[in-house]
Amino acid sequence: MSILIEGAILKGEPHSLWLEGGRIRAIRAGTDPDWGESAGTPDRVLDGRGLHAFPSLRNSHTHVAMVLFRGYGDDMPLMKWLETRIWPAEGRLTAEDVYDGARLGILEMIRSGTSFFNEMYWHRPALVRAVEDMGVRAMLGVNLIDLGDPATLEAQKDEIRELVPGGEGTGRARLALAPHSVYTVGPKELEWVGELAREHDVRIHIHLSETAGEVERCVEEHGCRPAEHLRRLGLVGPHLIAAHGQYLDEAELALLAEGGATVVTNPLANLKLATGGIFPYAAARRAGLRVCLGTDGASSNNNLDLFEEIKMVALLQKHREADATVLPADEALGLATTVPARLFGQGSGEVAEGEPADLVLVDLSGPATQPVHDPVSALVYAANGSCVRTTICDGQVLMHEGVVEVCDEDEVVARAVEVARRVTAE
Ligand SMILES: [Zn+2]
Repeated sequence: MSILIEGAILKGEPHSLWLEGGRIRAIRAGTDPDWGESAGTPDRVLDGRGLHAFPSLRNSHTHVAMVLFRGYGDDMPLMKWLETRIWPAEGRLTAEDVYDGARLGILEMIRSGTSFFNEMYWHRPALVRAVEDMGVRAMLGVNLIDLGDPATLEAQKDEIRELVPGGEGTGRARLALAPHSVYTVGPKELEWVGELAREHDVRIHIHLSETAGEVERCVEEHGCRPAEHLRRLGLVGPHLIAAHGQYLDEAELALLAEGGATVVTNPLANLKLATGGIFPYAAARRAGLRVCLGTDGASSNNNLDLFEEIKMVALLQKHREADATVLPADEALGLATTVPARLFGQGSGEVAEGEPADLVLVDLSGPATQPVHDPVSALVYAANGSCVRTTICDGQVLMHEGVVEVCDEDEVVARAVEVARRVTAE
C-alpha cells in the first residue's frame, strides 16, 4: 500500500510525503513535487494542504479499558475510590466487556493522534483483538497481581509461563510482563519476573513510587525504598518501565538511570488522585534517566488525550522548579514522541525519510491556535486532541479528515456505554 500526502506543512513549509510498506519512503518540498519515473502511482492520495505533519503520539502508561469508568467515582480518596467503585466494577468485567472498553479507548486515542500505548490490564487476549481490529500499536502486559488468592495467582503465572517464552513478538500487539507493583506482588514473584524478563528479553511494566504510603510500607517490610527493592530482586535493567515515580529519591533515580530503566510520568492522574508530590523531572534528567509520558487510566484522568498531558507536564515542571526554562515545548513533545518511539522500537519518532509511517496531520488554523509563530509551541501549549485531522499508524490510515476508518464509531461508543452501565449498576 502506497500513500501520497500532498502539501502538508513540515517544519513550517509545505512538503509532500510518500509512504510505502509502513515507512516514510520519501519527502519532497512543495505540494506537487517530481517523484521521478520509478515512483509509480500511489494507491491513495491524501490532501495535506494547510495541515501540519507531526509524529504521532505514544502513551507509555495506561489501562485502556478503564474508559468504561470515566467519571465513575470522581473526587474520592484513592483507596476509597478503588475499594468502593473501581475494584467491584472491575470484578464484573468479562473479556468481551474489556474488548468493548478497549475499542472505545483506542478510538479516543486515534481521534487525539495517539498511535501506540503501553498497557496493563486484565483479559489480554481481548486487548490483542481490540488492538488488531483498530490498527494501532500496543505493548500489552500479562498481569501479575497477588490479591490473596493462591489459585488466581497461580493461574496468572501459568499464563506468563505459556506466553513469555515467545518473546515480545513482532506484530502491532507486543507482549510485556506486568507485575502490578511492589505492594501487590511479593519478592519471590518479582524475582521470578526479573529472571523471565532477562531470559526471554521482554519488558517489565510496573507501578513504582506512586504514593508516600507505598514507600513507607516498602521500607517497613523490605528495609529499603521501592526502586532499591526492585534492584535487589534483579528487575532494574533496560527492560524496566516504571510508571509514576513521584517519590523516587536521588539515589533511586541514579540506580534506575544506571540500569538503563525508564520512568513514565502521568501528571494528570497524580493530580486528580491527589497522590501528592511531583515527579522530579529535572533531577531525573540530571541523573541521565529516560522519561516518557502517559495518561494512566481514563478513570483517573478523565481522558486519554495526550495533548493535555504534554502541556501539563511542561507546566508542572516549570512550577516545581520555579523556572520557566525547564522542560521547553520541544522536549515536552519528545516525551510522547521521540523518547518512547526509540524505547519501543518504532524508529526515531520523527517525520523523516526511512522512518516508520506513524504520523498525524494537525489543523492549527483555528482561532485557538492562530497565529502560529512556532508550530511546536502551538501544538504543545495551544492545541488539543480535537485539532488532529489524520492519524496514520504503520502506514495505515486510521482516521482522515476527522473520519475514523477502522470502525463504526457509533457502534463502538454505544457498546461501551452499555457495558459501563451494566458493570457500574449497584
Ligand atoms: Zn496505572
